[in-house]
Amino acid sequence: MKKVVVVATGGTIAGVSNGSGYDSGIVSVDQLLKVLPDFRLIATIETAQSCNVGSQDMNFLTLQKVAIEVQSILDRSDVDGIVITHGTDTMEESAFFLNLVVQSSKPIVFTGAMKPSTAIDSDGPANLLDAIRVAVSHDSFGRGVLLVMHRVIHCARAFVKSHTTSVDTFISPENGPVGHIIADDTISFEYDTPKVHTYLSNFHRGKSVILPRIDIFYGCTDMNSDLIRSSVSLGAQGIVIAGVGNGNVNEAVLGVISELTRQGIPVVRGSRVPMGKIVRNLEIDDDSVGTLVADSLAVAKSRVLLMVAVGIGIPLTDLQQIFYDY
Ligand code: GLU
Repeated sequence: MKKVVVVATGGTIAGVSNGSGYDSGIVSVDQLLKVLPDFRLIATIETAQSCNVGSQDMNFLTLQKVAIEVQSILDRSDVDGIVITHGTDTMEESAFFLNLVVQSSKPIVFTGAMKPSTAIDSDGPANLLDAIRVAVSHDSFGRGVLLVMHRVIHCARAFVKSHTTSVDTFISPENGPVGHIIADDTISFEYDTPKVHTYLSNFHRGKSVILPRIDIFYGCTDMNSDLIRSSVSLGAQGIVIAGVGNGNVNEAVLGVISELTRQGIPVVRGSRVPMGKIVRNLEIDDDSVGTLVADSLAVAKSRVLLMVAVGIGIPLTDLQQIFYDY
């Protein structure tokens, strides 16, 4: 029988009702598995409690520790795959971070829940069981970090949380999910994970690196530009703009970001629009302003990519290609 290690980090899947709402990250991974007797028919399970937080409190120090732990588990010859339980709020960033820095072709499957473990109709147990099913599937090899929730399989680069409370919250806006769980023992992958990830990634370091501060600014009508300059004075080593439309910004912001790029600060133009690529030199002349475009990468993930790329010292001249490749 295949062996899967379930690494728990917290989230609603480990949440407990508190009367008016619930507290995330309370229940241990072993308690979660106690209500899932069926897992023994699917895999031999080992557990690791990496941390236990609501994912709004996840940070890059913890995330780098999780990545190192995940790497050492996957490097073991007796382990076939890994499941990571995580809060849904920032799961997209954590999954994408691991997609960049963990080097393995073995299945790495995130899952979580939208209802706490104490809810009568909690979605956690079914999601966890499905994640284990995907982690033991031969078809899941070489697909990078995946997310399994609500019987749908997404790849880490593509998925975003789309609804504040619905159990069916995750979508991959650009091309849809990569696969589905059709029945308990039937998993169907509809297309290959796009872009460079995991075992082909150049970002694997096997140790923590100092990740720079990168700030995000959200584009809007009559957007102010002064905070962008302040953020660099406060230590930001890069900026990601959730621009309007094709990553556009007004004249005031354009003036500030041109100054910053002249100082060697990378500025990435993303978009607050959920779908489509940011195209270079369409309305903004990136070649002369010195800006980079996020391609089709979501803004929060663009920040993660820029943190990792700047953190390991990728030169400014190579950053645009990184955004096309990853
Ligand atoms: N804030 C919680 C978290 O991200 C709730 C979201 C969830 O896990 O569903 O951990």
